[in-house]
This record gives sequence, structure tokens and C-alpha cells, in this order.
Amino acid sequence: MAEETIFTKIINGTIPSKIIYHDDLVTAFSDIAPKAKYHILIVTNKPIPNVNEAQEADEKALGRLFTVAAKIAKDLGIAEDGYRLIVNVGENGGQEVPHIHMHLLGGQKMGAFGFVKA
Ligand code: AMP
Repeated sequence: MAEETIFTKIINGTIPSKIIYHDDLVTAFSDIAPKAKYHILIVTNKPIPNVNEAQEADEKALGRLFTVAAKIAKDLGIAEDGYRLIVNVGENGGQEVPHIHMHLLGGQKMGAFGFVKA
């Protein structure tokens, strides 16, 4: 099992967060530095460091990220207008926290994807 992360502490309630959803496989909470009107993180309860480390046995939890994202979008009333789901992987992907998580961004029109120019 990978080491605990800041997200593990949020899941366990060791550090405070605005928890929106929790079940046996995933937990969702508000991002501390929102990049859109709604910015929710949906994380696997198991601290898988990133997508490269995901195993076949993790597929149920990884699939749950999507179904919970859809449920939260519906609950927020943004499902029909649309929203963005992002999973960053590793340094070039811009991943800061080594614990698989999906960003749900919405409540406004999202801009184009970008990259850092060399
Ligand atoms: P990433 O760059 O994909 O690893 O995204 C990490 C996200 O975690 C960033 O959007 C941060 O704002 C967010 N974050 C970091 N610490 C916390 C925290 N304590 N509570 C909620 N969100 C956090």
C-alpha cells in the first residue's frame, strides 16, 4: 500500500475539508484553491500515487470516480450545461498531490487547454 497523503488525511477527517460525498471507494471534497465556480476533487480512498500505478484491481474505484462526478454535477445542477473532468499525471501533467484524483470544474464556460511554452 502506498504512503498516506494529504488527501488520505482529508478522507480520514484528520484535516478539515468540505466533504461532499464519501463511500467505500471514493471521497469528494471542495478544492482549497478553486479554479472555477465549482471545483471539486474526487479521490480514490486507496492512496494510489498516480494513473501509472493503477492496477486492474483498482478499476472499480477508478470507474466510481466518473459515476460520482456525474452524480455531483447533477446535484449541483450543472450536468446539462456541461463541465470538465481532469486527471493530472506526473510532473509534466501538473500533478501536485501523489494520490489519484479527478478534478470536476464547472458552473461556467471553461477555456481551451493550455501548456507551458518551453
Ligand atoms: P493536482 O495538481 O492535480 O495534483 O491537484 C491538486 C489539487 O489539490 C490542487 O487543485 C489543490 O488546490 C488541491 N489541494 C491541495 N491541498 C488541498 C486541501 N487541503 N484541501 C483541498 N484541496 C487541496
